[in-house]
Amino acid sequence: MKRGEKDKKKQIKTEKATNKKQKAEKKNSYMSEKDAKKAIIDIGQRMYVKNFVAANDGNISIKTGDNEVWATPTGVSKGFMKKKMLVKVDLDGNILEGTYKPSSELKMHLRAYKENPRIKSVCHAHPPVCTCFAIAGIPLDAPVLAEAVITLGNVPVAPYAELGSEEVPKAIAPYCRTHSGLLLANHGAVTWAGDAYSAYYRLESMEYYANILMLTEKIIGRQNTLTDEQIERLVAMREKFGMQ
Ligand SMILES: [Zn+2]
Repeated sequence: MKRGEKDKKKQIKTEKATNKKQKAEKKNSYMSEKDAKKAIIDIGQRMYVKNFVAANDGNISIKTGDNEVWATPTGVSKGFMKKKMLVKVDLDGNILEGTYKPSSELKMHLRAYKENPRIKSVCHAHPPVCTCFAIAGIPLDAPVLAEAVITLGNVPVAPYAELGSEEVPKAIAPYCRTHSGLLLANHGAVTWAGDAYSAYYRLESMEYYANILMLTEKIIGRQNTLTDEQIERLVAMREKFGMQ
């Protein structure tokens, strides 16, 4: 092999290693506090406009450090939040900054962060169709939509737990490393991801998926499901889209 070729190969190898390192660093980095607060307010407005939350329902949080989480307050409509209303807590729920009280449902978010350090954001809401499936105890698991297979996988129903109780974090804990989100029996839906907007988009995708399942299964009365081979190929695409 000529020297020039050898040098080129070496250069490509170094570039690849640098890209890999940058990707890994990006995966571990946190959103700045300023951006996190902006994102929480923006996501709250989107949830409200999309009818995912009624009155003061729902909550959003973003992890901005190893032991720091910014979260939405209780008793406030998520469509009309101001930065001063947001609360910063540690992973044990102690308030670090802010004058408003965090939601009692924040315990569920904190448990997700503790269970899986890759989770950097959690969104919880009551999207109507997801909530209907949660009330019926029916998981979202029919392989009918390619996008849903890639971004959500199957969505189980976590057992019923009383609002604000320790049973809620306990109910979601077993799924935090293996699923993108859950239906909460007789309550609503929760999603998580490595960044805030991915967590929120999963919530949008979940409600869309629930709508499609309801229409095809209950209204049209027929579903052509994807084959095992088609599902395997879609699952293999996750890495290409930067998903774990
Ligand atoms: Zn709720």
